[in-house]
This record gives sequence, C-alpha cells and structure tokens, in this order.
Amino acid sequence: MLKTAHGQSQLLTDTYHAAACSARDAMSYEESGVVTAVEVLTAGAYECPLCKRIGNRRLGPNDPRPPFHLGCRCTTVPIV
Ligand SMILES: [Zn+2]
Repeated sequence: MLKTAHGQSQLLTDTYHAAACSARDAMSYEESGVVTAVEVLTAGAYECPLCKRIGNRRLGPNDPRPPFHLGCRCTTVPIV
C-alpha cells in the first residue's frame, strides 16, 4: 500500500498514462484495418485477482479496455 502523497500521485499518474496508452492503442488497432480482436495481457506475477480473471480473454469492440482499476498494469495485444 502506498502511504505517501508522492506514492499516491504516482499511482494516479501511472493509471492515467495507462488509460491514454490504451485509448491510443485502440485507435491504432481500428485504423489498421487488420486487427480483428484484442486480448488482455496481465502483469503476470503482479496481477490482482480481478485482472487474473480477465487475463488472456478476448475483448469485443464495446468491452472496457484496461486499466480496469487504479494501478492496473494490464494492456491489450492485437489479434490479426
Ligand atoms: Zn489489470
């Protein structure tokens, strides 16, 4: 658990950065015209129970994209 204000602000910054990257990835996948689906890639040994359930699943076009929660380290990989 992060107890310092700096640690909490870093967690927020990392999560917003992950959200921006996820949105950028979704746009580039769509623009590519060859991506048929995306699959969730989790943080391996660092994954939380929620992300462990979601890991390696394919997401539909209207499914939420990572980050799924504050501090989520998941990302997506394109399926062509
Ligand atoms: Zn996650």
